[in-house]
Amino acid sequence: MSPKSTPRAARSRVSRLRAPLRASEFRRRLLRWFRSHGRDLPWRRTRDPYHVLVSEFMLQQTQVSRVEACYHRFLERYPTLDVLAASPPAMVRESWAGLGYYRRAANLQLLAQTVLRDHGGVIPADVEALRALPGVGRYTAGAVACFAYERPAAAVDTNVARVLRRAFHPKLPPGSGDQRLWETAGVIAPQRRGATAWAFNQAIMELGALVCTARVARCGACPVRPACATGRRVRSLAAGTSSGP
Ligand code: SF4
Repeated sequence: MSPKSTPRAARSRVSRLRAPLRASEFRRRLLRWFRSHGRDLPWRRTRDPYHVLVSEFMLQQTQVSRVEACYHRFLERYPTLDVLAASPPAMVRESWAGLGYYRRAANLQLLAQTVLRDHGGVIPADVEALRALPGVGRYTAGAVACFAYERPAAAVDTNVARVLRRAFHPKLPPGSGDQRLWETAGVIAPQRRGATAWAFNQAIMELGALVCTARVARCGACPVRPACATGRRVRSLAAGTSSGP
């Protein structure tokens, strides 16, 4: 029997054929759910790169409810990059009260100064240029490129990683396979710049925050369940069948 005709090879071929279909169903279901269930958060009402950047720095390791309480106050005090760059560092630090991790405030101010000096005051749209800025890692660069400029950039935070792992790589242990998850995010996300690219990244983060949470996967109420490997497996087990995803 040739290697191509073994049952394992056949299963692998079928799974490769199904993967794009599952990705497109996942995307379609996710976007539809987000239109009716996405929260109306202040940073979702803007495409201003500075405002988006401030929100992304604040959201690193801080709960949404806390950021909501501080976001407008911070922007009223520092309405532009220029004001932030020129303010006394101690004052910026004090304005970060309630958010913790004060290193982010120092990095944000350093970033403002760098953008003024090296980019003519315009926050870059390009992921690599963003990553070169102080305090900006792979996730934040993708998030700013997407949420400010609607670029189809992958942005994998802990919520997104959990959803991708459960939906597409259920055998990857938590905390491993980061590169694989980034690749999957790049494949399943819309490939063209625009509002759909923006909505997709917001939606998958929202799903991880509200439905597919670290504490519990609410598969029974999940909009992407038919396109999710874990959700399908849970349903099969509940139905008393042994068919896997
Ligand atoms: S079906 Fe379950 S595991 Fe899959 S994304 Fe939804 S909540 Fe998460």
